[in-house]
Amino acid sequence: MKILVINAGSSSLKYQLLDPDTQEVLAKGLCERIGIDGKFTYKPEGKAPIKEADVAMPTHSEAIQAVLDALVNPENGVIGSMAEIDAVGHRVVHGGEKFATSVLIDDQVMAAIEECNPLAPLHNPANIIGIRACQALMPGTPMVAVFDTAFHQTMPPVAYTYALPYEYYTNDKVRRYGFHGTSHKYVAGRAAAMLGKPIEELKIITCHLGNGSSVTAVDGGKSVDTSMGFTPLAGVPMGTRSGDLDAGILEYLMNKYGCSIKEMLNILNKKSGVQGISGVSSDFRDLDAAAKEGNTRAALAVDVFSYSVKKFVGAYAAAMGGVDAIVFTAGVGENDGAVRMAIASGLEFMGVKMDEAANSVRGVEAVISAPDSRVKVLLIPTNEELMIAMDTAALVRA
Ligand code: ADP
Repeated sequence: MKILVINAGSSSLKYQLLDPDTQEVLAKGLCERIGIDGKFTYKPEGKAPIKEADVAMPTHSEAIQAVLDALVNPENGVIGSMAEIDAVGHRVVHGGEKFATSVLIDDQVMAAIEECNPLAPLHNPANIIGIRACQALMPGTPMVAVFDTAFHQTMPPVAYTYALPYEYYTNDKVRRYGFHGTSHKYVAGRAAAMLGKPIEELKIITCHLGNGSSVTAVDGGKSVDTSMGFTPLAGVPMGTRSGDLDAGILEYLMNKYGCSIKEMLNILNKKSGVQGISGVSSDFRDLDAAAKEGNTRAALAVDVFSYSVKKFVGAYAAAMGGVDAIVFTAGVGENDGAVRMAIASGLEFMGVKMDEAANSVRGVEAVISAPDSRVKVLLIPTNEELMIAMDTAALVRA
């Protein structure tokens, strides 16, 4: 089976054509600067990437047409015709309370996704544009929506309810939703497979630590709590996002510097996190290098991040009444052994014992705890495209 996975943003579109059964990626790439000056990248399996500038892409429609043309191109294409694409899986950021699983897209589903737009005004409209463009170019090909929020819909009210006047939940849908669900679901499933146990019997804490970061408590295969909230701004500090903070700070700073809520939110989203603390970079590679050269703010930024993730691990172990495995994934989680060690060390009291040598790996599935560690610590590279393709294939087959 061949599934085209589409992740449409407002001016960019990532794509991958893959076989969910063999897990083979036939081709992948990126359309950038849609509506500006169109940049196109296409990488067929086993060949060098092809990059083109100034490709006419006034809208997502031309971008997707460029992708389809590249896939069937006699020279560098990977399929004979578009008919070989069995289905398209679309990443959609927000499914609100309407979607607890991935779904086959029809008119009703499109309307429900549109109703979620106010919850993700920057992302959902772009996702919808991507779906509509594909529907127009590939009539008859089944389309599936896979939501970042869906996996977390199993959270109980005690985990998703904010301590605000309750009407804000009932009237305005203000609650914790959580994000990165596709990644948390994928790595939790892989963790169970690596441990050789049914996921229903496991308590897992998944740490998706990338540019955006979130931690999730997965009990019996279901998300029961997660660190991101109504928006992806909440939880642990991130590359440039603040994570949780005292809301009183907003009033204090806005009054002091006369800035608007929009300016304040820009600071919290784009100028905070490890970038804000360090003044150096949002990239942990730069922070690690600067810290080695004696930059104490860079070192502090990494410490604040690791300390915050550690606290969520402790909190979620308490929430679930125990933990069998802790999983690290995404850019930082897959590559930064020192950060993993900082998070997981000092947790011996709850049965976590790291293995220095085992933790020196990067980017591969591995057990990085000591053989006698009661709680297994795992490194699992995430694969959101594969998860989307697997969900899409399952729905199309059903
Ligand atoms: P996104 O959230 O944008 O998908 P990723 O999961 O790809 O991000 O993570 C990107 C981040 O991963 C980078 O900003 C960087 O901080 C971190 N990272 C990538 N490679 C390394 C590395 N070798 N060592 C430490 N951190 C790394």
